[in-house]
Amino acid sequence: MKNVIIYTRVSTEEQKEKGFSLRHQKEQLENYCNQNGYTIMAHFEEDYSAKNFSARPEFQKLLRFAKANQNKVDSLLFLKWDRFSRNLEQAMRMIRELREIGISVNSVEQPLDLSQSDSKVLLAVYLVIPEIENDKNSLRTIDGLRKAMKEGCFVGIAPKGYINCRNSDGKSTLTFDPVFGPLIQSAIMEYAKGIYSAEQVRLTFLKKGLKISRNGFLGILKNPTYMGKIYIKPYKKEEEMIVEGLHPCLVSPEVFEKVQLILKGKYKAPVRTLTEIDQALPLRGFLVCPECGKLLTGSGSKGRDGKSTYFYYHCTRYCKTRHKAIEVNALFESLLCEMRIEQEQESVYTSLLSERFSERHQDKQTLIQSLKREEENLYKRLEMAEDHLFEKQIDASAFNSMKTRIDNRLSEIKIELKEMGVKERFFEKHLKEGITFLKGVDTVYKDSSTELKKKIVQTLFCQKLEYHQWYFSTPTLEESIKTILFRDRRLERLRIADKKRNTEGVVVI
Ligand SMILES: [Zn+2]
Repeated sequence: MKNVIIYTRVSTEEQKEKGFSLRHQKEQLENYCNQNGYTIMAHFEEDYSAKNFSARPEFQKLLRFAKANQNKVDSLLFLKWDRFSRNLEQAMRMIRELREIGISVNSVEQPLDLSQSDSKVLLAVYLVIPEIENDKNSLRTIDGLRKAMKEGCFVGIAPKGYINCRNSDGKSTLTFDPVFGPLIQSAIMEYAKGIYSAEQVRLTFLKKGLKISRNGFLGILKNPTYMGKIYIKPYKKEEEMIVEGLHPCLVSPEVFEKVQLILKGKYKAPVRTLTEIDQALPLRGFLVCPECGKLLTGSGSKGRDGKSTYFYYHCTRYCKTRHKAIEVNALFESLLCEMRIEQEQESVYTSLLSERFSERHQDKQTLIQSLKREEENLYKRLEMAEDHLFEKQIDASAFNSMKTRIDNRLSEIKIELKEMGVKERFFEKHLKEGITFLKGVDTVYKDSSTELKKKIVQTLFCQKLEYHQWYFSTPTLEESIKTILFRDRRLERLRIADKKRNTEGVVVI
């Protein structure tokens, strides 16, 4: 952080426009200090112009202030060298005098590195021949300035990241600063992500060499110059305006507008639908952590080259479980391959299943018949009991207890018969659907959208999966899927392991 004194001055011939000129100088100097994070300790304004430093009352005050604060003041800044002096010898003497008390002197529009020997030549040019800036002087009226600005010229000191220059038509404009340009650009882009506060971004870039104050950085974020435009203040009857500048932009207008929304707190991140992340992590939401049982989430991280992104399924940050998405996805796809029922096997499976189904069906038919027989017998017994009651072979209480037992059993039988009919139809339907679904399930999955992939996983597995490097485990499978998959084969990549009973061992039906 630098402490500076700023100095503004108008010469006699500039008296007419001095109000503007002095204000202009002060504004430009303040902007410059703000952008560079300098603290302005004092401002001296010379209303009266004399060639010699000794004849300038404000400059004498400035010298006294500088000497009294020589340990605190780092620099004396003014807009152009002709504000300081127009005499090389006097200027050099004053520069030395101030340097002796540790204060450097510089112009912000014509900065010179006075430790370089050839800078003295330039200094002479700046001091003695202000005419080279004649065309700029002609712009030093509000109208002239505004006219130039409307044409896209940049007047004033280049904002950080740019350097003042002239284009091929000799017009005053900006070009990139090779050192700060890229830094400013990445700082704005970083802020435009909408993740970090302006202060967080500023501190990050401070470490990279972008020395700038808090307000200075906010000023940069709001400055339309960076999107290649020129801001023109309202004046008299003219409203403020932003016009296309002649200079190149550091960020696109889209980025600039996004930054303005973020600054106002109005930016809303667009709703993610099928993003790259979702596509890379189709199993997110279906995997549980074998360590702690929590649902695994996933995210991407940039590789060392900064270009490619690597995705992982991982647990909470307190748990170390972390798997490369590419490996988990590949294992899952080969599991589907294993689960697939080939076209030529379909008929085999169907007949196997219908055989099994009809076996079950026969078993059930036998059960149903025996239940029906029992039902018939019970009715007969009830009739007989009624006869016995009439014939007074049994008394009323014996009959009543017998009737209650028979009625209870009859209603049990009715419920059993009803349930069996429902189960049978349901099971048959699901088996057929299961076979159709498993035919070529792996290729269907591969070609599906993320949305559909998730549906497929959901349909196949009623419970979450655990990833164990070379196989997946799940507590149970939907009945029909289980029947088809494990009818006459073993899957290498799928195990049914009941975690609740704590049996890591494999349970295959
Ligand atoms: Zn975990």
